[in-house]
Amino acid sequence: MDMTGDENPGAEVWVLGETRYSGAVSDTVYELSAKARVLADALAAPSGTRCGVVVAMMLDEKNAPRADLGRIGQYGADRVTVVRGDGLPFDRAKCAKILALLAKKARPQILLASATAFGRSVMPYAAAILGTGLTADCTGLEIEEVSGLLLQTRPAIGGNIMAVIKTPNHRPQMATVRPRTFGIPEPVSGRTAKVIEPEIPYMADSVRASSFEPFEASRAGIAERDSIVSGGKGLRRAEGFELISRLAGAVGGGVGASRPAVEMKWIGYHHQVGLSGQVVSPKVYIAAGISGSVQHLAGMSSSAKVVSINRDPDAPIFGVSDVAICGDLYEVIPMLIERIERRKRGERDGG
Ligand SMILES: Cc1cc2nc3c(=O)[nH]c(=O)nc-3n(C[C@H](O)[C@H](O)[C@H](O)COP(=O)(O)OP(=O)(O)OC[C@H]3O[C@@H](n4cnc5c(N)ncnc54)[C@H](O)[C@@H]3O)c2cc1C
Repeated sequence: MDMTGDENPGAEVWVLGETRYSGAVSDTVYELSAKARVLADALAAPSGTRCGVVVAMMLDEKNAPRADLGRIGQYGADRVTVVRGDGLPFDRAKCAKILALLAKKARPQILLASATAFGRSVMPYAAAILGTGLTADCTGLEIEEVSGLLLQTRPAIGGNIMAVIKTPNHRPQMATVRPRTFGIPEPVSGRTAKVIEPEIPYMADSVRASSFEPFEASRAGIAERDSIVSGGKGLRRAEGFELISRLAGAVGGGVGASRPAVEMKWIGYHHQVGLSGQVVSPKVYIAAGISGSVQHLAGMSSSAKVVSINRDPDAPIFGVSDVAICGDLYEVIPMLIERIERRKRGERDGG
C-alpha cells in the first residue's frame, strides 16, 4: 500500500487541508501551500535537491469539493492526498488518526495546518499520536539557515512577547498558523498537483454526524473576512450590535466582539475575538467601544489596518490603531455609515 504516491518520502513539507461547508477548498489551503513551498525550497537549498509539498485532505464522501483539488498545485503543492469517508471531517479523532498514519508512512519534516476550529482540534491529537510537539497559533515560520529547523514564532504571555520555538528532536515539526498570516499569492497558471487517494485501513467510526447545520454566511467565519467591525462593553447594551452590524454591512465585513460583550450575551461566542476567542487578521479591523486589553489584542493585532472608536483619549487600543477616532460611538458610527453610503452612491452616480 503506497500512501504517499512518492518514491522519496521524508523530504516533504505537509499541510493539513480543509474545505468550507460548501465543499470548496478553503482559502487557508492556498495560503499554507504557498508558505509550505517557500519552506520546502529553503529546506532543499543547501543540498540542491527538491523538497515536496503535500496537502492532505479529509473529505466527506457526499460533499466532495467542487473546486479542482489539482488547482492547489498553482499555489505550490506537488501532491494532494485525499481520504474520503462519510462524515469524516466531523470526526476529528478519526481525521487525526488518519493524518498520523499518513505522516508516519511519509515522514514529512514539517506538518502545518491553519489555526481554524478543524486544525486546532485535529493537530494536537495527531501530534500526540506521533509523539511530537505542536506550536499553536503561529504568526511566523522560517527555516533556520544552519540547522534547517523550523522556527515557529507565536505570541506568548498574552501577546506581550514573541516566542520562537524549535522542535529539534522529533518529527514532524508541527505548527498551526493563524489564517491570513501570510496571504495568498498569485497562482502560477499551468501547474497542477497530483491527486492521489490512498487506501486507508478500516477504522471504526468514533463520531457520527447526525445532522449538519451551517452557520449563515454572515455570521460564520469571521477569521476569513477582509474587514471586521467589533463591538465591546462600551456599547452598553445588546442593541448596540445592530449599529455594529449596520457598519459591518456598509463595509461588507463581519461582526466581531470583545469577551465582555459575549459574556453579557449581547452576541454569540463565535464572534469573540481574542485570546480565548478567534484570532483574526483582516485587512481592516474596526474596534468600537473596546479598550484594547492584551487579551483582545492577542486576537487582532496582526490586522493590516486598525481603526478604533473610543471616547477615552487614553484607551490602549489607540496605541495600536492606524486611525483613532476619539468620540462617542453612538455619534461616530452613524456618521461613518452615512459617509460610506454617500460615497457608494457617488461611485454609482459617477458610473
Ligand atoms: C484568560 C483571559 C482570556 C481573555 N480572553 C479575551 C478574549 O478572547 N477577548 C477579549 O476581548 N477579552 C478577553 N479577556 C478579557 C479582557 O481582559 C478584557 O476584560 C476585555 O477585553 C475588555 O473588553 P472591552 O474592551 O469590551 O471592555 P472595557 O475594557 O470595559 O472597555 C470598554 C471601552 O469602551 C469605551 N467606551 C465606553 N462607552 C463608549 C462610547 N459611548 N463610545 C465610545 N467608547 C466607549 C471605554 O472608554 C472603554 O475603553 C480575557 C481575559 C482573561 C483573563
